[in-house]
Amino acid sequence: MRRSPRSMEGGKDGDGHMAKHNALTGELLLIQQIKRDSKLRRGSFDERGVTLGIGDDCAILRPPAGHDVLVTTDFTLEGRHFRRDWHGLESAGHRCLARGLSDLAAMGARPLAAFLSLALPVGTRDREVALFFKGLRSLGDRFAVPLAGGDTAQAPAGAILADIILLGTAPRGTALRRDGARPGDLLYVTGSLGGAAAELSEMQTAGTNRKPNRRRDRRHDPGGVATNPQRFPEPRLKVGEALRRRRLATAAIDVSDGLSTDLRHLCEASGVGAEVDLESLPLHPLTLRSGPAEAVKLALHGGEDYELLFVVRPQTRLPRQIAGVPLTRIGRFVRATGRTPQVIQVASDGVRTPLAAGGWEHFRTHG
Ligand SMILES: [Mg+2]
Repeated sequence: MRRSPRSMEGGKDGDGHMAKHNALTGELLLIQQIKRDSKLRRGSFDERGVTLGIGDDCAILRPPAGHDVLVTTDFTLEGRHFRRDWHGLESAGHRCLARGLSDLAAMGARPLAAFLSLALPVGTRDREVALFFKGLRSLGDRFAVPLAGGDTAQAPAGAILADIILLGTAPRGTALRRDGARPGDLLYVTGSLGGAAAELSEMQTAGTNRKPNRRRDRRHDPGGVATNPQRFPEPRLKVGEALRRRRLATAAIDVSDGLSTDLRHLCEASGVGAEVDLESLPLHPLTLRSGPAEAVKLALHGGEDYELLFVVRPQTRLPRQIAGVPLTRIGRFVRATGRTPQVIQVASDGVRTPLAAGGWEHFRTHG
């Protein structure tokens, strides 16, 4: 990480350097969060893998012996990945962490530590920063993810910019990658699809009339169907870890850009084609408000559902659900016919057509 008088690389809290700092609140809150983590988890730091959090120039991590370390990094940019007037800052904080956790879930990893770099524009209100941390923290607490370091700065323009780095561990050589699918394997998905895009389009319609911060939704439904899949997506960490540990899956990817795009990534990495049975797609209840054809479109192309697409050998006995999350078979892998892997959609009447990646244009995120 960058060194500056205000940096806190798992480390010094910059006392005395930030009296006139416009991102003062953000910085203080970040320090508080990290110190809180240090206190909370002292004594169990070794087993959590964080030997030293804030208080020095670097954090010190100690992954369990015989484990690989997995690293992922994700931007959360205001105006691109969230809107203050639609999502609210609590959702932005939640999504910031959820995106990284979902990447760890997709590889069957267990979270080790998170690092946050946060740039706040002049005039960001204390309450907004507090809400951002509330969203990030409550998700982090549920999955015991220590925030082990970070940095804050004043954003050059009027938008909040956050970059989160997530580290996770998996026993050496066992992480679920994208390249493990073979012809004849089965394609499964966790939870339900299309909900995040459906909720987003509701937010779009409602525009700025609603007050996201005050809406008290029941947002955390670890199993089954997320109530607010766009604002508070649920990373499927328990499922991902179980799929790896119990050797139920041979490959996986999380649905961030949409089934049609992410399945293509899986096919490309594995050098196979795929067929998707449209009738079997588990549609999120929010998608049904827009009619059956649109619901399928949202499920195929919507993105941001953060469910797991995973690959199962035909002889593997897979439970119907893991940790309360339903697992649905939605297709199969076939031999690649050309240089670019073919992804085919199979309609209920058996008609087969190519499934193009994307095709759903809206305010969206990637990664
Ligand atoms: Mg991903």
